[in-house]
Amino acid sequence: MLEDMTISPAVDLAELCDECGESTAFGSGKFVNRYPVSNDEYECYRCDECDSKLYSDNGGCGVCKSWECECE
Ligand SMILES: [Zn+2]
Ligand SMILES: [Zn+2]
Repeated sequence: MLEDMTISPAVDLAELCDECGESTAFGSGKFVNRYPVSNDEYECYRCDECDSKLYSDNGGCGVCKSWECECE
């Protein structure tokens, strides 16, 4: 999750969310809150919905997206 942020010549997966597989392209409704995701194999995005879910699934807060919740 905290991989280095160097730009790699990875394959462009057409701006799909790496979690739900839906497009995060402009006009999709997920464009505004998408997050870039990259690893050794590909570069893509994660939509806000999935990003929040990942936090809550791993013991963090899906609302403020923090491991130490500050909103409650
Ligand atoms: Zn998603
Ligand atoms: Zn919170």
